[in-house]
Amino acid sequence: MRSSEGRWVRPAWAWDGQRFWKRPSVGWDGDGRILALREDGPGEELEGLLLPGLVNGHVHLEIGALATLPGRGLINWVQELRARGQISAAAAGRAVYAAIKLGTAAVVDVGNSGEAAAVGRAAQLPGLYFREILGIDQAEMPDLPGPLTPHAPYSTHPGRISGCARRGRWTMHVDEDPEESRFLRTGEGGWAEYVRSLGRDLSQWEAPGVGPIAMLRQLGVLGPMGLLAHVTCTRGAELDLIGQSGAWVVLCPRSNLHITGRLPDLSGIVSRRIPFLLGTDSLASVADLDLLQEAAVLRRAFPDLPLELWLEALTSRGGDWLGKPLGRLLPGTAPGILHVDIPHPEQLFDGTSWKRRWLACPKV
Ligand SMILES: [Zn+2]
Repeated sequence: MRSSEGRWVRPAWAWDGQRFWKRPSVGWDGDGRILALREDGPGEELEGLLLPGLVNGHVHLEIGALATLPGRGLINWVQELRARGQISAAAAGRAVYAAIKLGTAAVVDVGNSGEAAAVGRAAQLPGLYFREILGIDQAEMPDLPGPLTPHAPYSTHPGRISGCARRGRWTMHVDEDPEESRFLRTGEGGWAEYVRSLGRDLSQWEAPGVGPIAMLRQLGVLGPMGLLAHVTCTRGAELDLIGQSGAWVVLCPRSNLHITGRLPDLSGIVSRRIPFLLGTDSLASVADLDLLQEAAVLRRAFPDLPLELWLEALTSRGGDWLGKPLGRLLPGTAPGILHVDIPHPEQLFDGTSWKRRWLACPKV
């Protein structure tokens, strides 16, 4: 991202990560570091909304754009993706810059090649770039550097799930499709057939006999360091377990609708005070990496939730889970300052592709 110049502005609206301000005074220095945000003060008047850069809580930047068939379920989708493999440095490069252009200040990226991490660092896009660990028939951890994270309960051995979680923050695809719970409860079904078709040996793997969230609790890994991606099929008692554990969730509604035609129980998530982020997933299941469109889809399905909740999910919550000074217009921090050309913040998630630009880039 290009470097910025220090500036004072008085935007019509500002979102600071927790609340809205009407026509405040906001200043930052040449490094994009916030000097102040206050009710009155200097600055040129600016229409529209000022907000910290957005945090994408679940993305696979190395996977290029691929028009997969919609509504065929996760197993068919995974087969299609594997058959048409779209992982490349070029794809990662295009995705990183597309994400930045759409207002992304940080990512929780999951990859297998290391390409996204290399491009993301070169582009100064902060975040956590995980290397994904698979192997349902391998209990021991591979000898790999960097942050490691398990792929999913149907593809990663419990020993490896625990091994990743012991290292610090981790994230994992969980309960994205009903076949996952069937596989864990019975050891049978579509996932059993599919992993065997890949030559994996399930003879040493024992079905836990419970759903994915209960399995993670039994493993002792469910807690605030965990970020559960999708939870599309998670309901009732399993949501209770997430709520009690302090684990976080990240929702990718457009990808869910494309792959399975389902949406997560956001009302249940909010009523249990489970902290949630939003993510785009990869360009193999969404048309673009625009986080505002993720919120737009969920807001249409859950229209009664307050506007602030969506903005928290896109900004401060992401910084909080990452443990980085991102997602808040907080003096002394450089979260990236984004300007959205919009008459009123209420319109932000109406499905319009609102014009946006960076006034200062993020630095952590
Ligand atoms: Zn994913």
